[in-house]
Amino acid sequence: MTQYIRFARGWEGIQYHLPPFPSAENAFLPSIALVSLSQGSGPAADPVVRPGERLREGQLIARGTSPNSSHVHAPIPGVLEEFRVVSLPDGTRGKVAVIRLGGSFDILGRRAESIPWQNTPDSEVLRVLEDKAVLNTFETCVPLAASLRSARKSGGGSLVVRLFDDDPTIALDGWASRERLGEVLEGASIVAKAMDAASVYLVHDEREWKGPGSAELGALFPKRDVAAVRATHRYPAGRRKQILAVLPRARKSEHATVLIDAITSLSAYEAVVRNQPILSRYVAVSGNAIASERILRVRVGTPIGDVFEECGGFTSRPTRIVSNGLLAGMALHDLDTPVTKYMKSLHVLDADACPHYEVRECAHCGRCLHVCPERLDPMLLTAAVEREQFSPTVAKALSLCQQCGCCAVVCPSRIPIPLIIREARSRSSGGNA
Ligand code: SF4
Ligand code: SF4
Repeated sequence: MTQYIRFARGWEGIQYHLPPFPSAENAFLPSIALVSLSQGSGPAADPVVRPGERLREGQLIARGTSPNSSHVHAPIPGVLEEFRVVSLPDGTRGKVAVIRLGGSFDILGRRAESIPWQNTPDSEVLRVLEDKAVLNTFETCVPLAASLRSARKSGGGSLVVRLFDDDPTIALDGWASRERLGEVLEGASIVAKAMDAASVYLVHDEREWKGPGSAELGALFPKRDVAAVRATHRYPAGRRKQILAVLPRARKSEHATVLIDAITSLSAYEAVVRNQPILSRYVAVSGNAIASERILRVRVGTPIGDVFEECGGFTSRPTRIVSNGLLAGMALHDLDTPVTKYMKSLHVLDADACPHYEVRECAHCGRCLHVCPERLDPMLLTAAVEREQFSPTVAKALSLCQQCGCCAVVCPSRIPIPLIIREARSRSSGGNA
């Protein structure tokens, strides 16, 4: 199905192909898992196992070193062969635990005893979300428990659940909100309890709310104000700034606001109701160079080459593989790149969909300027970065960039503006941006 994305500013937009994506399927287990010790944007976790050790499925293999660093569990049973540095889906290189599949399964196919979370103290629910390593993939991927804990301290906070994809080409949060709405809403209720939210906003992108009515929502989120709110229909609609802008005016001043996406809700559901550490991710695989477009539930650490094999392999030579959306995603160049908890989608495109191109000099056409939702001047910004002119004005503009990708999509010179900005931000913050 062809869909059209209109940008928030200017007259431009893009067309994209949205596969029907019915139900998700479980992918085969990888024979080798490459499990990143840094599953989110925080520092890498500290290994608590050694090469040569036999690992159980779900065993803790690395402990988070700070509130922003998540624990890491063995996604498959097997032997830890070594630690190695590989390419990661966020464009960096990082340390992974190499696990060779073997031994018996503690979790696969077994029904774990669920936690009666409604009658469990809030603090205990919060601890479970932390122990099971639930990450919040709303923006940059961070441990969910850290933001819930700080919201609890402030008291009376709001939970905002985005039920659509930030980058519509990802098509995963939208799928989860359609096909798994019951679990997504129960997961949101668990998160609301863990942070003791006063109010819950379910932000959707439909003309009308098609979910449960107010009585049902009231029962699902007891003791909390709950409302469904429609997002704007132009991209980017799913970023923090745009979502806060559509909430009722009185709520905007609340500083204890936690924003999550549908996939994070689903993870909270699986961690608490199924009482399992998060060992797998849903990944939407699409593009004209892949044999079968589908949503797979893939073990964390599975090399993307295995994911493509599971989808029937390539039908033509891929010229571009992109993770996490065609607008704001990252190009991947190595089929051994492992699936991480922040991976949502993979697009595989051939030369028909993505012809080879060279980056050229800026043509000063101004198209990037007209589409930027932050009203930045990407042309001037990239020129300043190239000349290493980091004045306070440039630094402020760099920090305002939402990494939405609108500028790069319209640029006739194919200048990777968001990447230039992201790298400049990372350099100026010592690698922490
Ligand atoms: S400069 Fe940043 S905010 Fe502006 S269009 Fe480009 S990516 Fe989006
Ligand atoms: S869209 Fe590209 S070529 Fe046009 S002004 Fe912006 S950076 Fe230059």
